[in-house]
Amino acid sequence: MVDTHCHLVDPQFVSDLGDVLRRAQGVGITRIVNVGYDVETSRKAITMSVEHPWLLPAIGIHPNEAADESIKEMDKIEVLLSDGKVVAIGETGLDYYRDFSPRKAQQELFRMHIALASKGCLPLLIHTRNSVEDAIQILKEENHHLGVFHCYSGSYEQAKIIMDMGFYISFAGVLTYSRRAREIIQNLPHDRILLETDAPFLAPIGHRGRRNEPAFITETLNFAANTLDIILEKLEAILDANARELFSLQ
Ligand SMILES: [Zn+2]
Repeated sequence: MVDTHCHLVDPQFVSDLGDVLRRAQGVGITRIVNVGYDVETSRKAITMSVEHPWLLPAIGIHPNEAADESIKEMDKIEVLLSDGKVVAIGETGLDYYRDFSPRKAQQELFRMHIALASKGCLPLLIHTRNSVEDAIQILKEENHHLGVFHCYSGSYEQAKIIMDMGFYISFAGVLTYSRRAREIIQNLPHDRILLETDAPFLAPIGHRGRRNEPAFITETLNFAANTLDIILEKLEAILDANARELFSLQ
């Protein structure tokens, strides 16, 4: 099982990372995509992968960071890209819900991430909130077709467009309490779906309001298997194959 999107770089994991990793391995997680959201955490994701090769680093600057400043920092992300262990570019995308920074600047920053992903032939980890349409438009303009819409919050119609473009669609613990997410996943082809925790955020039902961690992905997996009416082991194998394909894993 792969947790395809998790922020173990977050300060919330500093004090008990060893325990968190042991619990993850205890439930059968073999790899975690460890996602940076600014220069410092992107650098940290790479450092962590030296000691723990199963924590796969992704590098990028989250759209909720001040985009004007971030644009100036992108050359530092580009330097980090030269580390051969990086498996994805992100977290990147557009956030029109929180709207922490001007949309124009967010869009420029997103385009810079896409250019980096194209340069490194790497998948993008795309964050969207109230912005799926613009994200689709920009990806089309930049002609990039590799990546995942993480913690998907768009419509089914948009999901169809995204899949036709070649992207995967990923669900976090939100799936366990969102009727909308449940209805969407039921209509998706299984070979386009991924699961993630987005820990320390978005804990699944039963853990809501507390820190999320990779081991809790089993609750989302159980829930997905029930929702899709498919045997758990079978779904797990499909999701594993999807993750291996997207991140070019052995
Ligand atoms: Zn995230």
